[in-house]
Formats: sequence, C-alpha cells, structure tokens
Amino acid sequence: MPEKILDFEKEDMQKVLAWQWRQVRAALKRASRIKFYKDLFQKEKINIEKIKDFKGLELIPVTTEEDLRADSYSFLGYPMKKIWRIFATSGTTGTPKIIFREPISPERPEILSVWINIFRRFRFWPEKAAIMRPAGGLAASGPVTAKIMELLEIPCITLSPESEAEKTAEVLLAVKPDLLVVSPSFAALIVYELKKKKINPRKLGVRAVISTGEALRANERFYLEKELGARVINTYGAADPSVWIASECEKKGMHILPYTSYVETVDSSGRKSDEGELLVTPFANRAMPLLRYRLGDRAKLDGRKCACGRKLPRITALERREKPTALKVERKIVRLPLRKILTQLADEEPKISSFFNFHTDKVSGRARLIFEADFYRLKKSARKKIEDSFKKKFLSVLESREKGMGKAMRLEVKLVPIGELPRRAAKLVSQLTET
Ligand SMILES: [Zn+2]
Repeated sequence: MPEKILDFEKEDMQKVLAWQWRQVRAALKRASRIKFYKDLFQKEKINIEKIKDFKGLELIPVTTEEDLRADSYSFLGYPMKKIWRIFATSGTTGTPKIIFREPISPERPEILSVWINIFRRFRFWPEKAAIMRPAGGLAASGPVTAKIMELLEIPCITLSPESEAEKTAEVLLAVKPDLLVVSPSFAALIVYELKKKKINPRKLGVRAVISTGEALRANERFYLEKELGARVINTYGAADPSVWIASECEKKGMHILPYTSYVETVDSSGRKSDEGELLVTPFANRAMPLLRYRLGDRAKLDGRKCACGRKLPRITALERREKPTALKVERKIVRLPLRKILTQLADEEPKISSFFNFHTDKVSGRARLIFEADFYRLKKSARKKIEDSFKKKFLSVLESREKGMGKAMRLEVKLVPIGELPRRAAKLVSQLTET
C-alpha cells in the first residue's frame, strides 16, 4: 500500500486550487519542451514564464482531439524507454490517436489517490475485483485499472468482454468478486445472462459496481442495483488525457476528483464560465503533456457545498458530445440530438434497460427505433404499451421541431431482449445512423 496519499475530500477549495496550480505550472514547463507546444507557443507568442495563475492559463488555445490525431508523437514528453504502455484509439476517421503512459507507481500518488478516495467515499474496500478489460477499442482503462488494483493489494481478475457474456457470467459466478469495474451496458448483459439461466445475479456476491466507459443512465442504475443488490458508483473520466474527472459521493453528488487534472468549463467564446464545454489539463501522466484538452462534453460546475460536506465542485448537467443526426423524412432533412431525445424517452420508463439503436432505411425511408428491455419483468401487453407510447412521444418531438414531419415519418418502435444490440469493447455500439 502506498504511503503518500492525497486527500482533498473535505479541504477548502483555495487549498486544492493552490496545490493544483503547482501541478499545472509543472505541466506547463513539461509542455514547453515538446514539439506540439513549442510550435504553438512560438506561433501564439506565448511566454509561459508570464503565466502566473489559472487566469493566465486561459491564454493558451485549446488542444483538440484532431491535434492529437494529426501527430501523436509531437506530444511525446518522455524518451521511449521510460514509457510504460502505449494505447491507441481508432476514431471515426480511422486514424488512431496514440496515447503514451508513464508507469503507475507508489511514488506518484495521484492516480492511486483517485481510487482510494472513490472507495473512501463509499466506506468500501474491495476484497477482490473483476475488471472488464476491453481488448479492442481504446484498451487503455483495463491495464491501468489492473495495475492500480495490484498496487492497492486488491487481487483482481481481468476479463475481456469480447468473449461471450455467457462465459463471462460463469467465470464471475465462480470467482465471486465483490467489485465490478465495468461499463453499465455490459454489466446489464451479464445480469441478463444469469437470469436467463434462472440464476439469481445476487449469487455473484457483488457489493459495488464502478460504472465506467459510458454514461450511466438512471435505468441502468435502477436495474443493476435491484438485480445485483449492489451499489452502483458512477464515475466520469477520459482515456486520452488519462484523467479521472469525477465520481459520486454517498449523496450522489458527482464531485470532481482533483488529483489527476485541473478541470474548467468555458463558454462559446472560450471564456471561463460555470457552464459550458469541459477542458482538462492533466498532470498525472508526464509522458504526454496536454494543456486545456477539449473532451467535447458539456457540463456545469456547481461549487455549492454538498450535503456530504465536501466543497469539491460537483459536475452537473453533464452532456456527452453529440453530433446531430440528420433524419430524412419525405425529402426534408431534420437534424436532431437523437441520443439526448432517446435517453430522455428511455429514462421515463424504468422497466426498460435504455439501450437503443436507431436505423433509417435510405431506400424505403422507414425508421426503426430499438430499445433493449429486460423481458423477465415485461409482459407482452406491457411491452406493446411502451412501444406505442414511445412512438407517440418520439413523433410528437419530431412534429414540434418540424411541422408535418411527425405525421410523415414511418416509424416502428421495438423492444428487444438485453444483448440483442451490438456491443464493442464492452460498450454499446452507437447506431444512430442511416442504413
Ligand atoms: Zn457530496
């Protein structure tokens, strides 16, 4: 167990920010030595010696995912032999981003402090953990989490969710971990597999589920807590900058975890604001300096004191980045934040698992909206009722956006069993697309 553990849980924000500033200042220095920022500072005539506080940091232009994708090696801050792991993300454009990670060791307390404080927030210390380690996709979170468990002396099993959910469920039943670190859509699938075999999911003996990798929806929490008899702990992080941004407290406040990054929200003109686009400046991965990295998500930072006594700001109204989907209905095109609309729809109905896909057929113009649901709790008549109600609601949203469209769209809403929709790297594959 590491000796130096950071604990800012009940600290005054002044003190936390003073500590964070020292980390950010060191990150600025490291950044000034790598190619990407050398070029940027020269171009923008930025002298980092003149940046004395977080206000000054705002002078630095935002770094984007595209910057990282264009030349990942220009962000490399360590000689190659000091790199612990290399991860890669293949994005929608096909060009992977490369992430270089420094070793995780007890001498660097930031990341270990994140995990210890997550457990402390729940007065819970796992006896043995199971980590769903995606082999495809980004693949960054699994090895990092496994290493953390090793250093915290928590034995863990890592499982690849690309293997069948059925086999995964069997292994978990044999191992009986009390902690699952998993994406909620994969956890739901495991529970469903067990129930299909008439095995009570509580037999797994899971006490806590750390939800990671995708947004945790109200329905998933409800489903997993009820079926597993476990506490579901929501966390929010980002793999590219290697940061753990927030996790819940016992009062369900998503408090920032100040240990691995400085988080700010900016308005559309790039100025600091309580609500807006999230930018992170990580400081716990010295192998790859990033400054004011744009995650693409939006949120509000609520600095008011929480019922739990923490003064660490809470992230509220978190909206994951979403490119509007263009729907074509009778030669008219309407662009909708489809994911947001469907999430709201799903959250209204606790009986369904809230994972959805949306297809429109280009040729016939017919649209299909598919939701996964736990059929063990749904009679056919109840299913039909939900399908009809979702259809009505969706068409009325469409109609309110564009007159005549609600009536013109040929839509079928269908509930299917959990696991029917494709998953990749333990996450549900988004298919809000035309086919
Ligand atoms: Zn709280």
